Amino acid sequence: MPTENKIPVYLYNTLTRRKELFIPLHPPRVGIYSCGPTVYKDIHIGNFRTFVMTDWLRRMLTYNGYDVYLVRNITDVGHLQNDTEESGEDKLEHEARTTGRSAYEIANYYTQQYMRDADEMNILPPDLSPKATDHIPEMIAMTEQLVERDLAYIRNGNVYYDVSHFSGYGALSGNTVEQLRTGGHGRQQMEIADDKDAPEDFALWKHGGPERQMNWSSPWGTGFPGWHIECSAMATKYLGEQFDIHTGGIDLTFPHHEDEIAQSEGATGKQPVRYWVHGEFLVIGNRKMKVGNAQEADDDETQEQTIKMSRSKGNVILVSTLKELGIDPMAYRYLLLTAHYRSKLNFSDESIIAAQNGLNNLRADLAILPRETFTEDTPWSAEAEEMRTAFQKAISDDLDMPVALSLTREAARNNKIAPAERWRLVLDFDRVLGLRLDSVEASTPRVVSEEVQALVRQRDEARKARNWKLSDQLRDQIRTLGFEVRDTAQGTELA
Ligand code: AMP
Ligand code: ZN
Repeated sequence: MPTENKIPVYLYNTLTRRKELFIPLHPPRVGIYSCGPTVYKDIHIGNFRTFVMTDWLRRMLTYNGYDVYLVRNITDVGHLQNDTEESGEDKLEHEARTTGRSAYEIANYYTQQYMRDADEMNILPPDLSPKATDHIPEMIAMTEQLVERDLAYIRNGNVYYDVSHFSGYGALSGNTVEQLRTGGHGRQQMEIADDKDAPEDFALWKHGGPERQMNWSSPWGTGFPGWHIECSAMATKYLGEQFDIHTGGIDLTFPHHEDEIAQSEGATGKQPVRYWVHGEFLVIGNRKMKVGNAQEADDDETQEQTIKMSRSKGNVILVSTLKELGIDPMAYRYLLLTAHYRSKLNFSDESIIAAQNGLNNLRADLAILPRETFTEDTPWSAEAEEMRTAFQKAISDDLDMPVALSLTREAARNNKIAPAERWRLVLDFDRVLGLRLDSVEASTPRVVSEEVQALVRQRDEARKARNWKLSDQLRDQIRTLGFEVRDTAQGTELA
């Protein structure tokens, strides 16, 4: 149920390099495109950090009353092993060649694994999950448009984007053509694609051959699409020529998203995306990890160093690895809540154990709260409303999830709020956090501990002595322990 009171939403926009007020193009609708996984190997918990970030963005906007439509694609062709320099084999083809399995079988297997693990992570399914291989005609059509507009040229069955003809190139990443040519981050090595006119140009279509399993016919001969064109083609098809938000991990800023802007804007003449939101990496200590198949670093490497979790480095941890170690995927989600999405987050034995403990404590606080059914119209108490406003402000301030988490923990224990309403409040917040707190069972029967019984006796004494101040303090203490106090002729009663 959307929250009635819209408050301003601010998002950090990579394009403008500042936090901006979010104004959707067609409110209340918000269109989001999120780059999905390349399904050639296991999808790891680093990838899931980025997908969880988008999940929070979507849930936050829904909480604020927006009607979100989320598209996350599946990359099953065209992503090369070295995407910055545009060299190496297609990742899917490489996996097929080295494992003897078919590229389609591999894509299907890892797509299933990703969907299963996304569900374990309580990531709400996107409204649409289009596959690149189902959109080859759309990619060919956009490539043709770019050729017609003199933004692309054909060489030996390959089609390249002519970067020098697109004046806005570099706006997102800061990698201007001049910088690229003088050896700045990126493409100075690209002479290896020998038929390009300039090193900064990139492929829209590549000629194929019998060594490949995935080939399609095109106006330029048999071949396959470049990686970037798939997102331009699918985002335009499903969200329109201009849409609100595009998300991905920080590494996608260049070249993937820079090239996406060049393609989409080049084809339509319109700026495709209003807000670019990028999440920082999950990194892993460069030291021996006891978990999963993590790479064991050399003993003489410093403990402080951290490296990106990535499939090419072989240091990945999967959601299934966490489960095998007895770590709840929700504990990993809790860990992600402890860092802002634009900061690196270090995954270590200590950090995940601390997160599991934090989650367990929150669950224990919730288990003692009484369950009552509230209707949507049941008014909130003033104290609960105050916490809701603080929560809504935190999530709307560029997804300040660490603050949102601490407010949730506070809400579970806030003795100014009746225990049953505390439960309602935490579940309201969990619509955004997504920690599956609604599955926390009430500890039944509710055992009244010695501690609570003693407090009740002390309170009866205090009331007899007309010591109202002490009696109120004791009532608050009892509330903190999860019980509501009622005064009857027989003395204090617990609810
Ligand atoms: P890929 O399957 O390689 O295209 O990656 C899917 C998504 O995961 C992209 O948005 C990447 O930017 C993101 N990603 C990859 N590695 C990490 C990491 N270690 N931490 C956070 N996000 C990552
Ligand atoms: Zn993409």
